[in-house]
Amino acid sequence: MSQKASTRDTRPVAQVIAAEGVARAIGLKHVASLLYTYRCDLACKHCLFQCGPQQPDRRVSHEDGLEFLRQLHQTGRVIHIAGGEALLYFDSVLALCRAADQEGIAPHFIESNARWCVSDELGIERFQALRGAGVQGMLFSADPYHQVFFPPENRARAFRLAVDIFGRPNVIASDASIEKLREMNDIGRDRERLAHFTRQHPPRLVGRAGEQLAHFFPDRPLSDLAQDPLWHGSNHTADCASEFDPERMWEIHIDPYGNIQTCCGIVLGNARETPLPALMATEFWGRSEIVRRVSERGPYGLLDLATERGYRARAGYPQKCHLCWEVRKFLRPSYPAVFGPAEVYGSRMPL
Ligand code: SF4
Ligand code: SF4
Repeated sequence: MSQKASTRDTRPVAQVIAAEGVARAIGLKHVASLLYTYRCDLACKHCLFQCGPQQPDRRVSHEDGLEFLRQLHQTGRVIHIAGGEALLYFDSVLALCRAADQEGIAPHFIESNARWCVSDELGIERFQALRGAGVQGMLFSADPYHQVFFPPENRARAFRLAVDIFGRPNVIASDASIEKLREMNDIGRDRERLAHFTRQHPPRLVGRAGEQLAHFFPDRPLSDLAQDPLWHGSNHTADCASEFDPERMWEIHIDPYGNIQTCCGIVLGNARETPLPALMATEFWGRSEIVRRVSERGPYGLLDLATERGYRARAGYPQKCHLCWEVRKFLRPSYPAVFGPAEVYGSRMPL
């Protein structure tokens, strides 16, 4: 299979960030992340990695973190630390950023749920410390899945302070008002309103979204799913090549175990064994028959494999990615090295 041409900006990432800010640079260069931990103080219903308080108290080591940041920077993408909620381990994250900054490999931004931002003093202290360690921006989500868990003031405060300290072009977040955030909280508490919101803004139905939000959607015949959009509206064909093409894929992650993933829960390799740049220089799908199948034939390739092993397909599924999720769960015991890690598949939160 040949790779299609990249549509990413050809300027160096530092130049793009300097000219456009971190927020715009993401769309122009795409992203690569250090997935610092699967642990989180929230348990959002749409979380693709099933992050939450139930996950092990496991984070990337300082040494691995530095090595993974070195590898991530070689992709030429916008680099961030994500999770889970990485700032549960604020002191360790700050120490990692400081050491990375000494090498010129600090992450460009950090993703956080902002729940921790309970006062101006704490927000200013943390953002200034991160900025002093070479971090250039912050990302905060705002939606009913997140906002149901904590006061709107924390999210609004984090946004305001981050804009003050990093500058608006470097804060990847909506400027949702307290009233809007409060309405999101209300929606998150109301099953009918959440169902309506979810149908209006359908997430990819894998991970916890596959477990807890799929029932908001009607099943559709297998043949109707092929053109469903993927992570960022790309593809629209039965295959999933755009998610596994090193140039076109939107995002790539390295987790605390070294697992390299594009689509959550499909492991392409391990950064401790084959550094990410080397892996990206090859064809991902050349390393694994499973990855080749899903890249070339999408979940239909996995469905055939599962059917050979006794899986009985339903008459329909709500979404192409949900078909993929259901089949992957069936196949995981046979292919745990590819369909992993356990954090993504292992825990089921109550509905
Ligand atoms: S979506 Fe983000 S904040 Fe929500 S559970 Fe997942 S990692 Fe935590
Ligand atoms: S169908 Fe599977 S491999 Fe394709 S984008 Fe969705 S989750 Fe990823």
